[in-house]
Amino acid sequence: MRKRVLVTGGAGFLGSHLCEQLLERGHDVLCVDNYFTGTKDNIAHLLDNPYFEVMRHDVTFPLYVEVNEIYNLACPASPVHYQFDPVQTTKTSVHGAINMLGLAKRVRAKIFQASTSEVYGDPDVHPQTEDYHGNVNTIGPRACYDEGKRCAETLFFDYHRQHKVDIRVARIFNTYGPRMLPNDGRVVSNFIMQALQNQPITIFGDGSQTRSFCYVDDLIRGFLGMMDAPSEVTGPMNLGNPGEFTIKQLAEKVVEMTGSKSEISYHPLPQDDPTQRCPNISAAKKHLDWEPKVALNEGLVKTVAFFEDLLRRNT
Ligand code: NAD
Ligand code: UDP
Ligand code: UDP
Repeated sequence: MRKRVLVTGGAGFLGSHLCEQLLERGHDVLCVDNYFTGTKDNIAHLLDNPYFEVMRHDVTFPLYVEVNEIYNLACPASPVHYQFDPVQTTKTSVHGAINMLGLAKRVRAKIFQASTSEVYGDPDVHPQTEDYHGNVNTIGPRACYDEGKRCAETLFFDYHRQHKVDIRVARIFNTYGPRMLPNDGRVVSNFIMQALQNQPITIFGDGSQTRSFCYVDDLIRGFLGMMDAPSEVTGPMNLGNPGEFTIKQLAEKVVEMTGSKSEISYHPLPQDDPTQRCPNISAAKKHLDWEPKVALNEGLVKTVAFFEDLLRRNT
């Protein structure tokens, strides 16, 4: 059945891949974005599709549309961008969640929330399981994002309990792939752009901190699987690739893969930067039969190809 699906943040990195997949499945997609970190380039190839519609709108304001499903992705995800206007970041997560939940309640739509591994803060349980309550500094520079996303989770579960809204909350771990912004500030795009231009690779701290990197196609398959799951599968559910790497290992991989002449340069570690992050994905395996299929090397090759193409077109 063709569903009318709203994707907030649909012109962003993950949102544009999601819109693409939903259209591929035959749905009618309404993409809502204020273009803070999203771009029209990300969705330009979809505009010819009569079942794709775009609306410039900020989710901190009410939105009255008639849809069957909502994916709430609107929120800058890179530390550089979410710390640029931290008050707006919290408003986007909190007011955005209230508005989208109010909409879901009114039209009885199923609603998915793009939450984050950042709700675990700098975790002292490793790998992170969904029952771990996290270790977030409420007043640090990352709090606008972390606490905004935590409050959004609270709102999702309260609308579920109080108003019987059908919710799906995914805790997304670091995801990478084509259509990340070249100046996004996140580690994968930074390292690849630096390597391709033979500029120094900027490692923050000593590079011993870890992250687990999920390729975008795997993640989007997880989103769709979660939305299709029975309504008791509310989450919160970790979605990510359990392969864990130090940032130094990532830098070395990218340099080797691109045959770059870049040297590594070390810079101060930003405040509250988590020292380790790795998802326990047993819940997603059990309830969605989901696990990532794309290994880091394979995903990096595709991402490097995207940035190479971008550089070629811009020179
Ligand atoms: P992104 O910055 O590329 O996309 C976010 C999109 O939201 C952009 O298109 C931006 O313009 C839009 N947006 C921001 N504020 C808005 C507002 N007030 N109203 C309407 N649109 C707004 O980031 P992404 O990586 O695609 O992340 C998408 C979602 O997934 C975010 O909610 C993010 O927190 C979550 N997430 C992503 C990752 C990751 O590794 N990519 C990890 C954890 C969580
Ligand atoms: N809302 C919206 N679209 C809708 C329905 C509601 O944007 O279709 C917003 C509305 O502006 C409100 C919020 O969602 O501020 C929460 O709605 P809810 O019905 O839960 O609360 P109330 O309207 O009682 O404040
Ligand atoms: N990082 C780095 N160099 C960069 C960008 C990021 O060493 O140019 C580090 C950053 O300090 C963090 C990790 O890489 O430890 C992942 O950073 P990112 O901003 O991608 O995501 P997050 O910290 O939100 O997981």
